[in-house]
Amino acid sequence: MPITLKKISVRDIRFPTSRELDGSDAMNVAPDYSAAYVTITTDHPAGLSGHGIGFTIGRGNEIVTTAVRALIPMMEGKTLESITADMAGFWRYLTGDSQLRWIGPDKGAIHLGTAALVNAIWDLWAKVQGKPLWKLLADMPAEQLVSCIDFRYLSDVISASEAVSILKEVEAGKGKREALLRESGFTAYTTSAGWLGYPDEKIGRLCRDACECGFNHIKVKVGRDIAEDIRRCEIIRNQIGPDRTLMVDANQVWEVNEAIDHMKQLARFKPYWIEEPTSPDDILGHAAIARALEPYGIGVATGEHCQNRIMFKQLMQADAISFCQIDACRLGGVNECLCVCLLAKKFSIPVCPHAGGVGLCEQVQHLSMWDFIACGASMNGRIIEYVDHLHEHFVDPVRIVRGRYLAPTMPGYSTQIKESSLAEHEYPGGKAWR
Ligand SMILES: [Mg+2]
Repeated sequence: MPITLKKISVRDIRFPTSRELDGSDAMNVAPDYSAAYVTITTDHPAGLSGHGIGFTIGRGNEIVTTAVRALIPMMEGKTLESITADMAGFWRYLTGDSQLRWIGPDKGAIHLGTAALVNAIWDLWAKVQGKPLWKLLADMPAEQLVSCIDFRYLSDVISASEAVSILKEVEAGKGKREALLRESGFTAYTTSAGWLGYPDEKIGRLCRDACECGFNHIKVKVGRDIAEDIRRCEIIRNQIGPDRTLMVDANQVWEVNEAIDHMKQLARFKPYWIEEPTSPDDILGHAAIARALEPYGIGVATGEHCQNRIMFKQLMQADAISFCQIDACRLGGVNECLCVCLLAKKFSIPVCPHAGGVGLCEQVQHLSMWDFIACGASMNGRIIEYVDHLHEHFVDPVRIVRGRYLAPTMPGYSTQIKESSLAEHEYPGGKAWR
């Protein structure tokens, strides 16, 4: 029996995280992690529903919910099967409306709304198949997986047939990698210790805690003031010792030359990468920074504000990044994330997803796990961001043990938020906001 998408709704959900300066960095000083939260109800006999998140950090969440509402009529009443039979066609259809496309294309609020709806479809599809999303993806034959991707504007770099070959080349090891993943999980790194708004004492304590919990990779926010950055890196390096990996994240605040200059001063703390050193749109600026920092062994990482596959293509073509930080809600849902992972594979750039916020950890773990199993991505150097906030609101929260993400077992994309949490955090009427 085909499953009909009966009703699609969106709610404005906000968590008041700014009250504790959780998530604070040089650019985003006081975020309230928020979700334009999509629910797709169906006529499935077991009452299965799909859920997706348009992630924002507070004000403007109402704009993304409005963008979702503009797209809903394009999907309501369709059957799930008509969508999953041609996923790339569905994605092209949803992103290709001739009038809505004007307020994109493939960027801004309309693209965030697209992601929420597309991800809700994947959540529903995985639930109907009775598999966690990573497993649904990993079990797909190469041709079917690639048929989910819209390769528009990428043909100069990668084609569908090349993507199939990339997957087929490593197909033989899939079973072994899945077994390894189930047994030992996927390496996480923590950002929870180094928010910019935290006092030194709290940072020191959180670093010690993180090491004790088994994290070997720790990220700190920089970019407010170079003297302060040096002091904070010193505290953290002292706490974590010389052998653990330290990453730094400037959240876009520097000019290109400033980024180079400041990172030379931080080089003695041996950062593995500098994340978002400058404007997320400045591809050649990233390339200049990458070239200047190469002799220091510091890689450039970016992606949480990289709006689409075309920008990622150019970052890779220009040798501007050493780490590809896909964001489950910034790119237009699972389809576009798969595409960027295949691009990264082609350029031999490790995918280390951006996470945190609300529900980002829950989602990107599935993508990295598929990347590992199906693209044969080495686990070496591949890490998923982990932030210890808001997981308690999810029906299927991430499970972190000794600094590693355990593979989800519940069917779906782990995007469903508990009804009680939704009611409490609905903006502006929920209890959290009254
Ligand atoms: Mg970041």
